[in-house]
Amino acid sequence: MATLTHEVPATASRRAEAGSNNAYDLIVVGSGPAGQKAAICAAKMRKKVAVIERKRTIGGVCVHTGTIPSKTFREAILYLSGLRQRTFYGRGYALKEQISMQDLIFRSDAVMGREIEVIKSQLRRNRVTVYEGNARFLDDHTMEVSSEEGYATLRGSYFVIACGTRPAHDAEIPIDGKRIFDSDQVHDLEELPRELIVVGAGIIGLEYASMFAALGVKVTLLDQRPNVLEFCDHEIVESLLFQLRQLGTVFRLGEKVVSVGFDAERDRVFAKLESGKTVHGAALLYAVGRQANSDQLNLEAIGLVPDGRGKLIVDENFQTAIPHVYAAGDVIGFPALASTSMEQGRLASCHIFGVPGSIPPNQIPYGVYTIPEISMVGATEQQLTRDKIPYEIGIARYAELAKGQMLGDDQGFLKLIFDPVSLKLLGVHIIGDRAAEIVHIGQAVLALGGTVEYFRDTVFNYPTLAEAFKVAALDGLNKL
Ligand SMILES: Cc1cc2nc3c(=O)[nH]c(=O)nc-3n(C[C@H](O)[C@H](O)[C@H](O)COP(=O)(O)OP(=O)(O)OC[C@H]3O[C@@H](n4cnc5c(N)ncnc54)[C@H](O)[C@@H]3O)c2cc1C
Repeated sequence: MATLTHEVPATASRRAEAGSNNAYDLIVVGSGPAGQKAAICAAKMRKKVAVIERKRTIGGVCVHTGTIPSKTFREAILYLSGLRQRTFYGRGYALKEQISMQDLIFRSDAVMGREIEVIKSQLRRNRVTVYEGNARFLDDHTMEVSSEEGYATLRGSYFVIACGTRPAHDAEIPIDGKRIFDSDQVHDLEELPRELIVVGAGIIGLEYASMFAALGVKVTLLDQRPNVLEFCDHEIVESLLFQLRQLGTVFRLGEKVVSVGFDAERDRVFAKLESGKTVHGAALLYAVGRQANSDQLNLEAIGLVPDGRGKLIVDENFQTAIPHVYAAGDVIGFPALASTSMEQGRLASCHIFGVPGSIPPNQIPYGVYTIPEISMVGATEQQLTRDKIPYEIGIARYAELAKGQMLGDDQGFLKLIFDPVSLKLLGVHIIGDRAAEIVHIGQAVLALGGTVEYFRDTVFNYPTLAEAFKVAALDGLNKL
């Protein structure tokens, strides 16, 4: 039966001391993807597990301000803007003429609500006890949970720290959550700005820039780095920038922002650049990195020292320098994805309780949910060139695929990189509709050490985007 409990005592004056009831095999801090999977994995091994999560944030950043709301927002934009349909019905086509923030948030709220219920139910079914409040270490094996209702003291044999991150702020950037906001505040905006400055062209900055651009907002993207998405295939990035420019996005790359402010007289926000330029807009999204939440855990009590941005250093088993304390998810840094966080959390628990496991290197897929979507797995051309590894490529353009045409995506493409002698697949890079879904076909072949002959010799459903693998394999093999 359900055992999800919220055991923080009801009155602030009462303190629950650690007794046998409050002793756990594993205590997990944070209920985001890493924390959830660490907890459930240990519970399935019949361990007594507690998760500590702040009030009203079960599911973590992933469910409340990150992956789920931003990706639902994106789906709502794609649907309501009719962007995909414009290939057929003309550039002016939109399903809804005046799209409001409420139209977009409505869908995000619905999905978030359901996700929270799913997570609660999974924890309950697996008999994981959830404490609502702020966790901090008191000593090596003792943790305090505090909330406005009171305190509880828990004892743990092991700990998994999965406390995640928050948007990095700068004291000089006057974030007010209305005209100048961070990625946590996008969904609280009351109305869509007509023009948006985005500071930071990392994944989050680029994703939101493309979503607002798809809504017809005039977006200017600023970043001090001269290139974006360095880990992606260069041709894919070029295509992304080209398609975003077609949506009216202006890029100012290699430009350092020295100050941001609000000009009350003109009712405009501005960003001043080191080069002397000033960019004006109706609103500004500040998306310059994230800061780990480890500073709130009183790590001094256990002698664990994070790095400058609060990240925790772990080994390949997600174990910190303190042997009974593990860390997983965004708090340990790159790649800081929900997908990898889940697996890290699960593997941390596996290691604690003696079940070996690891994430195979070079087989992690990356999904960048810009409009258009990007996904990749394996090596890039630039990595192979740097390492002096010969390769051949094969390309399938969505415009040549019946399904690509049906979906109205005539810009997308899939690139296979393979060894010209052994024909072994080395990498898959896709930009276009459903890239993050179909990349997994390539991931499976890569993981199993397969060759591009597999794609050549396999019958794919028709019409599908998956067929791109066959077209690209034939293209590549014809070059040999
Ligand atoms: C805008 C945005 C879009 C994203 N899109 C994607 C995407 O499309 N795909 C993808 O894979 N990833 C995406 N990510 C990244 C993804 O959300 C994170 O990688 C993932 O949420 C990290 O999981 P986590 O378990 O490490 O931590 P989190 O999800 O950050 O959860 C940590 C939890 O710990 C709790 N906590 C922290 N300190 C304490 C404490 N002292 N006491 C109690 N509780 C505490 C917090 O309240 C929080 O709920 C996105 C992120 C953002 C911001």
